[in-house]
Amino acid sequence: MKPILFDFSPAQLEQFVLDMGQPKFRAKQIGEWLSRGAPDFASMKNLPENFRRDLDMAAQTLPCKIVRKLESSDGQTTKFLLDMCDGEQIECVLMRTSYGNSVCVSSQAGCAMGCRFCASTLLGLKRNLTANEIFAQILVAQWELRSTRGGDRPVRPNGDPNNGDVSHIVVMGTGEPLQNTENVIGFIERANHDMGIGWRRITVSTCGIVPGIDRLIEWGRPINLAISLHAPTDELRGQIMPINNKYKLDEVLSAAWRFTELHNRQLMIEYILLGRKNAAGETELYNATPEYAEKLADLLHGKNCMVNLIPWNAVDERDFAAPSGNAVHRFQDALIKRGIHTRIRRERGTDIGSACGQLRLNNARKK
Ligand code: SAH
Repeated sequence: MKPILFDFSPAQLEQFVLDMGQPKFRAKQIGEWLSRGAPDFASMKNLPENFRRDLDMAAQTLPCKIVRKLESSDGQTTKFLLDMCDGEQIECVLMRTSYGNSVCVSSQAGCAMGCRFCASTLLGLKRNLTANEIFAQILVAQWELRSTRGGDRPVRPNGDPNNGDVSHIVVMGTGEPLQNTENVIGFIERANHDMGIGWRRITVSTCGIVPGIDRLIEWGRPINLAISLHAPTDELRGQIMPINNKYKLDEVLSAAWRFTELHNRQLMIEYILLGRKNAAGETELYNATPEYAEKLADLLHGKNCMVNLIPWNAVDERDFAAPSGNAVHRFQDALIKRGIHTRIRRERGTDIGSACGQLRLNNARKK
């Protein structure tokens, strides 16, 4: 495997350049291109052409290569299939929204959590991603944004959410971030430090790993926390999320409230709405009945949170069904009546398999 220059320290980069018979200042030039996410040496326009060719033989830029890029039909969402150099593949998703450009990153190749409704866990966990590998996903998206708009600088100062660059990050791709907590923390520190992305524009979503939430509390940065709840009782949750057999609902929620109270932040509760086909081929509600809405309201009553309802996105291997639009609205209304702030998540990129729960390890046979 060729060395990955993105992983080099400035001193190592200098040595590498000197060893190739080039002056030291080239290291700084390369470093700048790397920090902008240059996917190859050919893009490094201020390097002599023969040096670029030599570099291409000797090394690679980022710890990932774009294998495929899919655009949603509305042009707002781009999914990248990335090769991680050791043969593992992951996905990340760029979403252009009215409030800025958001990137959904993966924290692991595959996932060990085994949630019954999700595509990401179908092939199990392959490995954790390093902080650099998670960070590189943001740079891939940033490079895409800048090259499609034909500039290599932000159009407004750093930190302005509408400056045309990546402004928001959600750690909601494949993998369970709190099974890879230190690398996720390293990644977030870097996104904040190097790219000026504010803590409050960064969200980590977890299926409920209590020691991981405690670690985020100790770390102390006021990021957003999202909990994939999906069921308001231990009995139901245990059926669809094996992790619930280790960390029960009340432990997970009390850790989450500790986090949000510390930072005075709103907790995001993710709740997939699931149905099932009965023998007659009709969809019956699973966790989306009015009774479960009441139970969920009991659980969240009086707390600073927002429920994000996610109508289930199709995954071929899973035998759930999406509930009707009416059922979704009834569920939402029941929560709102009880005073719970509730939204239905706008899905992005369903047509390219990039919506929640559709990201998977090997995308070859999918569109
Ligand atoms: N492991 C983390 C990060 C994944 S985030 C977590 O569990 O939170 C992705 C979100 O999409 C989670 O809330 C996940 O439960 C949800 N999801 C998984 N499969 C889905 C599907 N088929 N349709 C809609 N949402 C799904």
